[in-house]
Amino acid sequence: QAEAHPEAFTRYKPGQDESHLRELKLVTDLHTAILNNGLHMNYQPKLNSQTGELVQVEALVRWIHPELGFISPEEFIFLAEQSGQIHDLTAHILQRVASDARRWHEQGVDAGVAINLSAMDLTWPALIQHIGDTFEGWHHNLERVTLEVTESALMEDPEEAMATLNRLRELGVTLSVDDFGTGYSSLSQLRKLPVQELKIDKSFVLRLDTEPQDQLIVRSTIDMAHGLGLKVVAEGIENLEAWRLLQHWGCNLAQGFYLSRPVAPEDLPETARALADR
Ligand code: C2E
Ligand code: CA
Ligand code: CA
Ligand code: CA
Repeated sequence: QAEAHPEAFTRYKPGQDESHLRELKLVTDLHTAILNNGLHMNYQPKLNSQTGELVQVEALVRWIHPELGFISPEEFIFLAEQSGQIHDLTAHILQRVASDARRWHEQGVDAGVAINLSAMDLTWPALIQHIGDTFEGWHHNLERVTLEVTESALMEDPEEAMATLNRLRELGVTLSVDDFGTGYSSLSQLRKLPVQELKIDKSFVLRLDTEPQDQLIVRSTIDMAHGLGLKVVAEGIENLEAWRLLQHWGCNLAQGFYLSRPVAPEDLPETARALADR
């Protein structure tokens, strides 16, 4: 009769069990979604800060679950990592991006692509081969493929990360440190990495218009990165004031809802035209 006892009942944690069940379901259904094109991609423009020109688009994966609706990428990418599916997911995303990009080029959209890698992809032996094969037709244009790797992923195992980044550089892709400012890497570590771009995390950019401390951090990060010969991207630009400040400080690339939301691949040509006409 323990189940019916009020004390036993208060010890029962419905929230925990339900979230465990949800995870199990998501892990199983993610496998199906990867195999059956149940995922789709959105692309968010990264603009030249000075001219407003479209330079590249960042690929952001989306999953609308048939019963549970929108699942955030943070949630299902974590589950993919935990359940051993992350490399299948990354390989799938690479294919999607390459085929979307091929179509845009046929439609006259001139934009590079940026793809997010998971920390675990950096220790995936087949990564280099996959990237090389996926973008084989890009010939000497591989620098127009940017790989975004978070600062914290790089710091998990800096030596291993360095080896992978060096091999990716040999392929000719551009390497970007994502979420910069959130991962406690030191300047000396950053200086040794073969990266070309530094992406300031949106937590420093969202309130740039009103927060003097964020202004100080962003401004000095831009100066430091330029001193190291890196290009700087700011993400999370949500208003004109933030964009003006970043332009004034010489930030190279700009990304945020104020400039453009992430869009479906079929809408990119129209978005590119609208950006050019602005
Ligand atoms: P992230 O790489 O830092 O991507 C930027 C996130 O900020 C995206 O959220 C984007 O929609 C959002 N964002 C862009 N502009 C603004 C803005 O002006 N204001 C605000 N508040 N947010 C803005 P999203 O798409 O939900 O992605 C979240 C995270 O999930 C990404 O952070 C990335 O870490 C991960 N992710 C997304 N797609 C992929 C993928 O294809 N592969 C991997 N490995 N990770 C991915
Ligand atoms: Ca990113
Ligand atoms: Ca970020
Ligand atoms: Ca992130």
